[in-house]
Amino acid sequence: MTENPAPGKVPHGPGEVVIDVRGLRMVYPPAKPGTPGTVAVDGIDFHVRRGEIFGFLGPNGAGKTTTISILTTLLRPTAGDAHVEGVDVVAHPHDVRRRLGLVFQKSTADEELTGRENLAIQAGLYGLAGEAVDRRISELLARMDLAAFADRFVKTYSGGMRRRLELAVGMVHEPKILFLDEPTLGLDPQGRAGFWKYIQSLRESSGITALMTTHYLEEADQLCDRIAVIDHGKIIALGTPKELKDSVGGDTLEISVAAGARELTPLLTALPGVGAVTRIGDTYRVKCSNGESLVPRAVLAAEQAGVLITGAIVRKPTLDEVFLELTGHAYRGEGELPSSEAADAPLVPPVGQGA
Ligand code: ATP
Repeated sequence: MTENPAPGKVPHGPGEVVIDVRGLRMVYPPAKPGTPGTVAVDGIDFHVRRGEIFGFLGPNGAGKTTTISILTTLLRPTAGDAHVEGVDVVAHPHDVRRRLGLVFQKSTADEELTGRENLAIQAGLYGLAGEAVDRRISELLARMDLAAFADRFVKTYSGGMRRRLELAVGMVHEPKILFLDEPTLGLDPQGRAGFWKYIQSLRESSGITALMTTHYLEEADQLCDRIAVIDHGKIIALGTPKELKDSVGGDTLEISVAAGARELTPLLTALPGVGAVTRIGDTYRVKCSNGESLVPRAVLAAEQAGVLITGAIVRKPTLDEVFLELTGHAYRGEGELPSSEAADAPLVPPVGQGA
């Protein structure tokens, strides 16, 4: 499948592969002897190209953190291969670690030190010290909008500031690849948007490649060049956000008609490019390949049948729908569905699909 990438996004055509995963498998040992171990990652293959922002999405327990832990050399896989910039993560973990920046959901900063001190300690762990490093630390702090707080204790930082400091810590040794495991968990929408803005700017200025997980699908939709959906340790879909959304059957056109108007379902179903048609009160939900091009044809057909259309809205598919379709469950926990999705739930079965 091909597409024009959104502005600022990287096409997934030819380009240097920087993360290469083949047949990766991880089985955790059993808690009690004689019981089976837990298959956390079940033979996955994927690659990430230089400059891509690659999303790794899946429900709780899908195997995301385990995969990231293997790629960042914190865990040894049971089977399979993984290379980062051509270096085997099992054979040469130290070499791999030098190439990576890590930002996890859990803060690693020392609360009793200042932001600048935390960065200096991290630089020291990589054997970096001296004037050039001090300059880099000041630059990083400025870049993360932390210059004014650089010499304050981290315990006085807000949630967003702490996350930005984590990013600066992850970047101190100038890695070209970032692993971000739910880095925005717990931040408010403004803090989350701010954090991702820094990632995008790092990609634009330094050509950073990022592999990220998030529980916020709208973030992944906006940011990621490609997304792998993982469930029960297996990759069940992989593509650009658009490809994934297209895979669930395109747009939904919602047409409202005057109360008591004649039934339009057979007429709408007969239009080219139309899939299932669902009626909810005086509104029809029409699954279709291209909502915008269907609007005039649907309006004309309704008019010819003597029905006045009072409103028409084209809804584009969301990654939430993709998730529901692929895994059979919503991405967020029960009761956490956004209200727009709850409102989208069909009240009558689609035509041609028995109840
Ligand atoms: P979450 O979104 O909740 O962080 P995840 O997709 O990151 O989930 P993992 O943490 O990789 O999933 O877990 C995958 C599976 O492996 C789960 O069934 C989990 O219970 C199990 N698991 C994870 N860590 C261990 C461990 N140290 N020992 C045994 N089983 C584990």
